[in-house]
Amino acid sequence: MPELPDVESFKIYLDSTSLHQQIEDVHVKSKIVLKGISSQKLNRELIGREFAGSHRYGKYLFVKLDDDRWLVLHFGMTGNLVYFKNLDDKPEYDQVLFEFVNGYHLAYTMPRKLGMVTVIDEISPFIEEKNLGPDAMDPDFDFQAFKKTLSGRRGMAKSTLMNQSIIAGIGNIYSDEILFQSRVHPKKTINHMDEGTLKTIYNNMRAILQTAIDHMADTEDFPDSYLIPHRRSDQVCPNCGGELENIKVSGRSGYYCPNCQKK
Ligand SMILES: [Zn+2]
Repeated sequence: MPELPDVESFKIYLDSTSLHQQIEDVHVKSKIVLKGISSQKLNRELIGREFAGSHRYGKYLFVKLDDDRWLVLHFGMTGNLVYFKNLDDKPEYDQVLFEFVNGYHLAYTMPRKLGMVTVIDEISPFIEEKNLGPDAMDPDFDFQAFKKTLSGRRGMAKSTLMNQSIIAGIGNIYSDEILFQSRVHPKKTINHMDEGTLKTIYNNMRAILQTAIDHMADTEDFPDSYLIPHRRSDQVCPNCGGELENIKVSGRSGYYCPNCQKK
């Protein structure tokens, strides 16, 4: 599922392929991904316009149009962006296809249609309406702000990190990685953590997300000391060599090392 580093890599990809080209047509294959906008209205908003820039917040990508409105993309569980020229190269599951005057296309693909596409006037009211917490990589979101966000909370570590209204951008995979590297059990409750533990979690959160962005979220490229390369393959802890375990927290199935992450 696309989390902050994946969406940041979509942003870098979109910025390097799709800016400053007039949009000739928009094909909506799956209306279910359109939220609060009809395909006719989406066409009217986009045709003749250009993508002028982009901004990421949490797991959302906001694409600025040259009339200062914003196309919003959320990638659900399986979304992706693919830029290509010939329709023979069109990827599967293109739910929305943006066609540029220069003959190229940008496909918003999604096998499971759980994403969202819409157009908005401004970003801030949208973030407020979606009740999103601070973006996990926002430069202003320092340790003091992190501590403040978590103060008074009683939830379990994993569900707290994944709760978009507390911190925006982290999902199942990266919450596991952050807690693994912090040696914190996924079910340990936030109110039972001392300042040192919170600081460790914060520092790991920033370092891991940055490392993932540096690798364009290509998990096969991640350091071997990370949990991520091991969770789906050998399921062996890269720290102690023990067996990783599956754990359900708030309905999500994650991985942890019972030896390194004691409760
Ligand atoms: Zn271990």
